[in-house]
Amino acid sequence: MPIYSYECKKCGANFQTLVRSGDEPVCPTCGSAQLEQQLSLIASPARGGDNDAAPSCGADGGACATCPAASMFN
Ligand SMILES: [Zn+2]
Repeated sequence: MPIYSYECKKCGANFQTLVRSGDEPVCPTCGSAQLEQQLSLIASPARGGDNDAAPSCGADGGACATCPAASMFN
């Protein structure tokens, strides 16, 4: 079964869940079914890993490790 990542439109919670065909997942936090399915399948359980952070330098509020400007903050 595929694991999909969702963001709840109601409370903003992010979570991953197994989804069988015909199932409608609900938010584990608030129970809402108003979910936005994230496009990418979860390849790794680690958050803040190598792949996700690379193209979005500064998006998380800090310089990434590969950005030349990172030295300015360290
Ligand atoms: Zn929710």
